[in-house]
Amino acid sequence: MRIANHVVDLVGNTPLVKLNSVVKPGSGLVAAKVEYLNPGGSSKDRIAVRMVDAAEASGELKPGGTIVEPTSGNTGVGLALVAQQRGYKCVFVCPDKVGEDKRNVLKAYGAEVVVCPTAVPPEHPDSYYNVSDRLVREIDGAWKPNQYVNPAGPQSHYETTGPEIWRDTDGTVTHFVAGVGTGGTITGTGRYLKEISGGKVKVVGVDPEGSVYSGGTGRPYLVEGVGEDFWPQAYDPSIPDEIIAVSDADSFDMTRRLAREDGLLVGGSCGMAVVAALQVAEREGPDAVVVVLLPDGGRGYMAKIFNDKWMSSYGFLRSTLDGKTAGEPL
Ligand code: PMP
Repeated sequence: MRIANHVVDLVGNTPLVKLNSVVKPGSGLVAAKVEYLNPGGSSKDRIAVRMVDAAEASGELKPGGTIVEPTSGNTGVGLALVAQQRGYKCVFVCPDKVGEDKRNVLKAYGAEVVVCPTAVPPEHPDSYYNVSDRLVREIDGAWKPNQYVNPAGPQSHYETTGPEIWRDTDGTVTHFVAGVGTGGTITGTGRYLKEISGGKVKVVGVDPEGSVYSGGTGRPYLVEGVGEDFWPQAYDPSIPDEIIAVSDADSFDMTRRLAREDGLLVGGSCGMAVVAALQVAEREGPDAVVVVLLPDGGRGYMAKIFNDKWMSSYGFLRSTLDGKTAGEPL
């Protein structure tokens, strides 16, 4: 019988699917790694499992302990799944700008959610960083995974995402393209693919215009989950051969096209990564095999990217959800 013992055992081994409609003729093959097919709906399930494994092994997380992390989304879901399996409590700290739906997802999985004001500087005692540090001090048996620093994050991608891509392309992958948030995905997956290919696989990081990886200063952008205004320890800048910056407008337009034309309802950082992957595939020509990682699904973005009014209010709307060109009467 093929029956998993627990949903956590279903993390990883996500499929690759060829992108069709959005790829320009004459380009290389573009294959998307569909991470929303992880049980918690994102690539963050992978790091959650490995961070908890490592903390158990080191004794930092003990039976009955509490996982405390500042997260509003995907990492929280992954941690909550692992916590359920192994009997830990979860307390997630998130800023009040995070919508009620997202908070309720975490609560639905059994986590406690502590909300902090967005409009205070990071050094303020009520800031989301300080509140999570205080909770770690106050709660007996608390452990903070800290995905921005924890080496088990990149290691999980080195041990799972990289080998899966090599296996599923029969070692023919020429380029790996992924968005950079904490940097764990690009660092771990990229390092594995470079090692196994003897340096042949080229690694392309993608970030929103304004973020530090492409030389920005942390100017605000609206794509979620990628880009930073500081350099996290989970990121090894020697791994990417190149960083491509993509605008919010191009990221969101491509995100909508992926749903409408290629059947992939995914998040905004996926559209962003695909814009860069298509540039690489066009530039490198028909012999290239470009793998692009799509971190999460689109359901969490219905009120934003998949909402014509929201898109229009930022000047991003190029065509409406019912397929009209923006500017035509709706
Ligand atoms: N996209 C989304 C939606 C994410 O949540 C994340 C993780 N922050 C990323 C992309 C980037 O992955 P990483 O942190 O491994 O760089």
